[in-house]
Amino acid sequence: MEKLSIIDRNELIESTKLESEQESTLRPSLWDDFIGQEQIKKNLQISISAAKKRHQKGQKEGSKKTECLDHILFFGPPGLGKTTLSYIVANEMNANIKVSAAPMIEKSGDLAAIMTNLQEGDILFIDEIHRLSPAIEEILYPAMEDYRLDIIIGSGPAAQTIKIDLAPFTLIGATTRAGMLSNPLRDRFGMNFRMQFYNQDELSLIIQKASLKLNKNIDSKAASEIAKRSRGTPRIALRLLRRIRDYADVAEKDHIDYELSRHALDELGVNELGFDELDLKYLTLLANAQNRPIGLSAIAAFMSEDEGTIEDVIEPYLLANGFLERTAKGRIATFKTYEVCKIPSLNNRLL
Ligand code: ADP
Repeated sequence: MEKLSIIDRNELIESTKLESEQESTLRPSLWDDFIGQEQIKKNLQISISAAKKRHQKGQKEGSKKTECLDHILFFGPPGLGKTTLSYIVANEMNANIKVSAAPMIEKSGDLAAIMTNLQEGDILFIDEIHRLSPAIEEILYPAMEDYRLDIIIGSGPAAQTIKIDLAPFTLIGATTRAGMLSNPLRDRFGMNFRMQFYNQDELSLIIQKASLKLNKNIDSKAASEIAKRSRGTPRIALRLLRRIRDYADVAEKDHIDYELSRHALDELGVNELGFDELDLKYLTLLANAQNRPIGLSAIAAFMSEDEGTIEDVIEPYLLANGFLERTAKGRIATFKTYEVCKIPSLNNRLL
């Protein structure tokens, strides 16, 4: 029998977010500092202002209810701003945000502990939501729809269902794999947003703003160079910026110029396209296969990486930029793969 245990919430909330302190100092909390993803921003701003208007109207009419935002799902590769957007939404709604991650929610009691502690209007952020077990997902359905928990205690004839009313809340789910979410769960999110990779100008702006926070001046040419090599991803851009700042500090420079950033990026092993050793190993494997499709498990074994890392971290940017093709039989090189690996294609079909 699974016990309904009220466990230490601190284990599940807040502390579960695997994020470095440095990252959170650079995290924007206002719309103006959140660059790009314009369509998503626009849609969220409309929903937030509508919810606020409804709330004000309700208050005028004597209602004590808080108007919550619809549940939101963000999906897309890591580092594109899903968590950041969730914090901004909470900020804009003047709501508390409780942060957890699906791997930390193993038992129904874990979820009950989190949910019963939510206050009216709170936002619950669940990272990696595709990793919730089907049993936990089922508990989530009535919670999302009717703000109610139905928890079954015991099994067989002695089983009992406990119903617990919850305060109205907004669930924000983040996932790198929308395809792994069950349909009933996906359907319960009123808003679904797919995050896009950032272009060079957007990343350049993110780098310049972050640089100010790190008390370093940066040339626009240097910021563009870092942006170009950041795989369309703010987290990578900011990580590179911090490493380049180290180079500047060692050289006792307050200013990051183009030469310094180029030198540091080359030393860090990030090539002109932003590919590192792992990307190049992957692409070389495909190019050497000469148009023979390679399955994910074979790629993972060759690279000594797990399949999830290949699918979530390495492939999305390469796919979005035409460096590989995904077919039913496996992954295949494109002309760009041969070009970047400097391996001639023996098959002219793709050239
Ligand atoms: P995810 O949750 O998608 O993995 P995060 O929200 O944790 O990504 O973002 C990673 C880092 O990149 C954070 O430091 C965040 O501040 C920064 N960041 C992400 N998107 C943006 C953006 N649009 N503008 C500015 N900074 C951003």
